[in-house]
Amino acid sequence: MTQAAASEKQATSGDHGGELLIWLNGKLVPKSEASINVYDHGLLYGDGCFEGIRLYNGRIFKCASHIDRLFKSAERIRLDIKKTPAEVDALMRETIEANGLTDGYIRLVVTRGVGTLGLHPFRCPEPGIFCIADKIQLYPTEMYDEGMPVVVAKRPRIPVACLDPRIKSLNYLNNILAKVEAIDAGVLEAIMLNTDGYVGECTGDNIFVVKDGAISTPPPEAGILEGVTRQFVMDLCAELGVPLKERLFRIDEVFEADELFLTGTAAEIIAVCKVDDSTIGQGSEGPITRKLRERFRDIVSANAPED
Ligand code: PMP
Repeated sequence: MTQAAASEKQATSGDHGGELLIWLNGKLVPKSEASINVYDHGLLYGDGCFEGIRLYNGRIFKCASHIDRLFKSAERIRLDIKKTPAEVDALMRETIEANGLTDGYIRLVVTRGVGTLGLHPFRCPEPGIFCIADKIQLYPTEMYDEGMPVVVAKRPRIPVACLDPRIKSLNYLNNILAKVEAIDAGVLEAIMLNTDGYVGECTGDNIFVVKDGAISTPPPEAGILEGVTRQFVMDLCAELGVPLKERLFRIDEVFEADELFLTGTAAEIIAVCKVDDSTIGQGSEGPITRKLRERFRDIVSANAPED
């Protein structure tokens, strides 16, 4: 294994002693045996949907919201999961238990299933379902205090009329190519604009700007995934009395922000210290971001809400 591969493995995978067990189409199978049929349309066409979910202290954070979004994504691509939300909930818990996890990250995936070589989605009689419960650390720990640098991607987000971004689909190439722009620039995340030039979101995170004590985040019409963490942070703002508005804004407001932060299941809440060559605010985590991150940490470590 190369050094880069070893450090990637360490960053994304916990030490489970034995081999990780994956829930795959009704069975728990060792990771090395958990493979997908090459005729699965999830693989051939990115035809499917997924969720990334956190487990904190034995509780599945916002479990119901994730299951609800998975079913909505599936409905929007006319994919019949052929399970009830309660059955999906149960298979996730079975996977967590089989791996003895109390804290970690769950990847729940539904593919169109095995079909023919043509695109025809309805020639795939059974959906494929798998669930991975593992560890994750998306960004280095020190970036949470110091903030992370990002860039503005040149590539816009796919317009809503072409692909509804509320669908958390298996087709992430638009985001991956923007992520490549970030990596080429030496950073880990990129801000994506929509084709009208408004700020949308990042490649795997939602975005919030803070100006004069008030927060703004792009509305769904900007062409974003409606993040579960985004909604939780909006609820936190209401609880803490921090004014927050969903509204369209352009990139100049990002450069002029007092604070800027991103949210996502894997990222949680992380400050941005720099966009392209411009320092944001003080160049480290600002007071409002810190307050939200501390409140978030207190809630999830004490008793993470599952609804
Ligand atoms: N936007 C995109 C494109 C994402 O992939 C994600 C999830 N990684 C998010 C936003 C954040 O959503 P959530 O808080 O539900 O993880």
